[in-house]
Amino acid sequence: MGASVAHLEKILDRYRLTDGRKFHLADIDPADTAGLDLAKGEAETILARDVKRLAELQSLLYAQDRWSLLCIFQAMDAGGKDGTIKHVMSGVNPQGVQVSSFKEPGAEELAHGFLWRVTRKLPARGQIGIFNRSHYEDVLVVRMHPELLAAQRLPHAAHGKEFWRHRFEDIAAFETYLARQGMVVLKFFLHISRSEQKRRLLARLDDPHKNWKYRPTDLAERQYWDGYIAAYEEAIAATAKPHAPWFIVPADHKWFAHLLVVAAMIEALERLDLSYPAPTAAQRDLIAAARAQLATDPN
Ligand code: ADP
Repeated sequence: MGASVAHLEKILDRYRLTDGRKFHLADIDPADTAGLDLAKGEAETILARDVKRLAELQSLLYAQDRWSLLCIFQAMDAGGKDGTIKHVMSGVNPQGVQVSSFKEPGAEELAHGFLWRVTRKLPARGQIGIFNRSHYEDVLVVRMHPELLAAQRLPHAAHGKEFWRHRFEDIAAFETYLARQGMVVLKFFLHISRSEQKRRLLARLDDPHKNWKYRPTDLAERQYWDGYIAAYEEAIAATAKPHAPWFIVPADHKWFAHLLVVAAMIEALERLDLSYPAPTAAQRDLIAAARAQLATDPN
């Protein structure tokens, strides 16, 4: 099977959304694999090679110290965020990557606007930031549960279509600002089917090694499935931009989701003008002097 990085990059277009006007989540099959039919070992071999390439690019990003990369992961419960992040992280230099998980906000976070806590975790220049959940929770879970919005103590009336439209606008404006600062923003929605979620939740109940992952709220949230799908569709459509694309990643097959995410990161970094900084004339003199000094060192 000749699935190369180039091939994967070609199929990325199918799943990349930069303009949400005609977007329907239902058009994307969570079980899709773009016609690829890889055995586990084959997928692992390709992923290992791609992760190596990602590590090379990360090293360039770090050395050049101009751009940064932010990858946002959103999914329904059991959508595979943790496993995907683990694979992405498997080859990269931990010094250049920071993973941040956003859970239910605490008192200090609730005392600030919803973008405050994510702003504090943004990657510095040269760095990759990975968000496991993100500011999008504030237009997803918060939209499903009015008590979470009440906890934000907004002084103005906070409900209705207009309120959510304003949040989308704020998010889009925030991401435009990030892009203008030199941050590449990639947003991944790991798209699983309702039946695949059932299978994975059952596995959490059946497999003693997965029991710890099970939370009663998983079943409670599952009741809101259709509401979440509608909220995701709207949020994705309203915030998909060329400088902050969404990738709708079919995620029923974990191997495919992992390959697609890593390919999207590689593609984004390859589009940058990354190179190792060339030494200045003064630095070249220092290098020559250091070489001469070491050459005369007896040991
Ligand atoms: P995960 O499911 O990501 O592995 P947890 O099981 O700890 O991690 O779940 C984190 C929970 O925090 C999720 O239910 C999520 O919806 C919730 N959460 C995240 N951000 C917010 C927010 N801004 N407001 C309310 N709840 C949030």
